Amino acid sequence: MQDERTGKRVLLAKPRGYCAGVDRAVITVEQALEKYGPPVYVRKEIVHNKHVVESLRERGAVFVEEVDEVPEGALVVFSAHGVAPAVHDQAAQRELRTIDATCPLVTKVHKEVNRFDREDYDILLIGHEGHEEVEGTAGEAPHRVQLVDTADDVQRVEVRDPSKVVWLSQTTLSVDETMDRVDQLKERFPQLSDPPSDDICYATQNRQVAVKAMAPECDLVLVVGSTNSSNSKRLVEVALQAGASASYLIDYPSDIDESWLEGVRTVGVTSGASVPDVLVMELLDWLAERGWAEVDEVTTANEKISFALPRELRKDLGKA
Ligand code: SF4
Repeated sequence: MQDERTGKRVLLAKPRGYCAGVDRAVITVEQALEKYGPPVYVRKEIVHNKHVVESLRERGAVFVEEVDEVPEGALVVFSAHGVAPAVHDQAAQRELRTIDATCPLVTKVHKEVNRFDREDYDILLIGHEGHEEVEGTAGEAPHRVQLVDTADDVQRVEVRDPSKVVWLSQTTLSVDETMDRVDQLKERFPQLSDPPSDDICYATQNRQVAVKAMAPECDLVLVVGSTNSSNSKRLVEVALQAGASASYLIDYPSDIDESWLEGVRTVGVTSGASVPDVLVMELLDWLAERGWAEVDEVTTANEKISFALPRELRKDLGKA
């Protein structure tokens, strides 16, 4: 439906927002605060969203960059993005109590690194330099993993035996760009092995598919998400590639420059995997106040995945 007088309408992507891994990580910190009381230390942002981090901070979570900032013997939660074994070792040296909220789909990639390391492969990890997930994954076998971020990296990497080389990836990349990078790698290494299963997770893929479906009809696509959220940034890129005239990443409606709306009839709305839906509802209210009150949902998948809480926490909650 659209406003018959002005033609203004909103297309709302589904699936959008919270994935199972983010939901689990946020509930982990909430339950830890309830069970043990503040402060609960969290290494890095538990998920890459400003609103989520601020709300947890108000409730007593203390976010640190590294475990050496955590007092000896205290409780620390590891974020959804995963950590390298060296971080577990540092935590053990400081006798910290740990709860590991690494998303099980990130853990799956860590296990693939371990397996290919054991089989003596060179591992080409496609991902963004400096991203926490990539640091954790590469840290499983730093002597075997080489990061491939840009096209230049494809030319730069060196392998010992071109018949024993595999590519793996960060979970939150653009599916299309990753396959471009794989094609480039296969030109250099024709015997390059594929991962045993998709590393780009279901949530990242589903949100990209939904954006692709609605973007060709949109004059503007607004993606709710923080600038350090990889999967949110990819949604902006996918929207533009799929035909949206413009697309921007925003944390809150106050980030919107009202000039973006000039001449716009159809606004597409979606959100990254670390974004609670309350932020999307605030955006819809903001748009309705400006004449975009008609909202049609564009559904490309129904997600039913959920993950159990980390074992350490389940045990203390009596749910093991
Ligand atoms: S985006 Fe994917 S890998 Fe990351 S936390 Fe969510 S489900 Fe897990």
